[in-house]
Order: sequence, then C-alpha cells, then structure tokens
Amino acid sequence: AKAAGKGQFHFYQSHLSDRLILRVNKEQALRQAIERDEFVLHYQPRVDTLSGKLSSMEALVRWMHPEHGLLPPLEFIQVAEDTGLITKLGEMVIEKACAQIGQWQAQGLPVVPVSINVSALQLNNGSVERMLADCMARHGIDASLIGIELTESSMFSDAGMVSGELDAVRSLGVKLLVDDFGTGYSSLSQLQQLDVDVLKVDRAFTHRLCEGSEGKALFKAIVSMADALDLRIVAEGVETAEQLDALQSLGCDEVQGYLVSHAVPAADMPGLMQKRFLF
Ligand code: C2E
Ligand code: CA
Ligand code: CA
Ligand code: CA
Repeated sequence: AKAAGKGQFHFYQSHLSDRLILRVNKEQALRQAIERDEFVLHYQPRVDTLSGKLSSMEALVRWMHPEHGLLPPLEFIQVAEDTGLITKLGEMVIEKACAQIGQWQAQGLPVVPVSINVSALQLNNGSVERMLADCMARHGIDASLIGIELTESSMFSDAGMVSGELDAVRSLGVKLLVDDFGTGYSSLSQLQQLDVDVLKVDRAFTHRLCEGSEGKALFKAIVSMADALDLRIVAEGVETAEQLDALQSLGCDEVQGYLVSHAVPAADMPGLMQKRFLF
C-alpha cells in the first residue's frame, strides 16, 4: 500500500512538471526561433470592390519550423503573448515588412500599402512608434505605405499609454486599421477620437451576409456608420461570389478573403500587383 501511495504521489508530481516542462519548452523553442530568424511574412491581397485592383495587402507571420514545416500564427502567437516574446517577434515583423517594401520599391514595382498586425502588449510597451520610424527611415519607405491593424479591444483598452502611443504612430502618417471589427465594443466617438482610417469587418459578419435578411441589415448598418465617419470599410473572409455580390451592392469599399487570394509568399506578390481581380 505504501508503495502504491508513493507511486501516486510520483504520478501527480510528474504530471505537473510535464505541463511546466511543456510550457518552458514552448517558450524556449520560440525564443530560439526568434534568435535563428525562422519567421517569414506572407501577404494577403485586399481588393477594391469598384475597380477590382489591389488596394493593399496584409502581412501575416508564419514560423518556418525545422521539423514541423510552416506553422500558422494560431500555433505560436498566444505563447508569444503569454511570455512577452511578442514584443521581439512584433519588431521582427515590422522590420521584415519594411525591408520587403524597400526591396519591391528598388525593383520598380507598383507597391501598395502593407498593413501590419500589432498586438496590445506590443503597443503597451510604447516601442511601436520608434520601431516604425526607425524601419521606415532605414528602408526609405514613406509612411503612406504602412498601416497597423489593431483589434478593437487592444485599441480601446483604457490604458492611457495605448492611446498616447497610437497618437504618436498616427502622427508619423501611418494608417490605423481596426481589425476584427464588430467583435468588440467600440463606440462611434471612440473611433472618431482615435482618428481611425479603416474598419476591417470581422469575417463572422461576412459569413452571415448570405444567411438571411438579418445578416444583410447588420452589415448595411456597419457600412452606413463607416460612411458617416468617413472610414474605408473592408470585409474580411470573403469566400464566395454570392458574398462578394452582396458586399458590392451594399457599397463595401474593399474585400479580403480566399475568393480573391490566400496569403502568398512575398515572391508571388509582384505577379498580383498588376492583376485585375473580381472580373
Ligand atoms: P487576422 O488579423 O484576422 O488575419 C486574417 C486571418 O484570416 C489570416 O489567418 C488569414 O489567412 C485568414 N483568412 C483570410 N481570408 C480568409 C477567408 O476567406 N476565410 C477564412 N476562414 N479565413 C481567412 P492567419 O494568417 O492564420 O492569421 C491568424 C491571426 O494571427 C491573424 O488574424 C492575426 O490576429 C494573427 N497574426 C498574424 N500575423 C500576425 C503578426 O505579425 N503579429 C500579430 N500580433 N498577430 C498576427
Ligand atoms: Ca489583421
Ligand atoms: Ca481580422
Ligand atoms: Ca484576428
């Protein structure tokens, strides 16, 4: 009996430490990946619904894992946030995006603005504006070619530091995009106060568009609100021609989603810069 008790104790102990080890391992692996520079950016086109032209693109990070292949952000962003490594990773993303724009410019390509995802934690650190200014200067990039995407919750968290940092970013001339719009609780006046440029409507709303009159009415309300505030509006997650059709008739400015293009490696972007989409 004594031996069994001892075994049980051992079981719990090793179970706990397994979880701890797993977490420490993940953090360690991510830290190492950052040191080894194992991250790449893919780019997803955003297209103007009237002209069918590329209007912008979103930089989306991927981890080129030496054993597991290309990993999506779902596999590592949360760990990066939980461990504070997001700050370093976020800086790498800004650096890579600016370097890429600089390279496209040097090749004489018709570059469109690139928007970069920034997490709340990164913003709280107050280093985003300095990082952006530094990277744009080093790579000779105009601020009009950069936007930052923030979710509603990170943009309007009541920490004064965030809005101070956002003002600083804004005064560089960098555009401000609200990501996953509709999933948070921002008000009209907040959007106006922060001088937001673009609303990216969460794909949940796009998917509800063709599932009855309610979905259409809801999207219509978002479009008229954006009109009143003079914001550009982008529908995320557009996957079907039917959705595109509905969005065009509602007067949604831009679309992004698998119907137009998945996120692609940087090497594929030049071919898409001149392309006419949607027709
Ligand atoms: P997000 O900012 O909402 O980015 C859009 C995500 O939706 C991307 O997933 C994209 O591949 C996916 N998507 C695009 N079109 C469609 C579509 O038509 N249907 C569906 N179902 N999905 C579509 P991805 O690349 O896996 O990124 C996931 C999330 O990871 C992003 O969501 C963003 O929140 C985060 N993320 C990506 N890159 C970065 C980064 O550099 N920094 C930070 N902090 N977060 C990032
Ligand atoms: Ca985004
Ligand atoms: Ca989004
Ligand atoms: Ca998101």
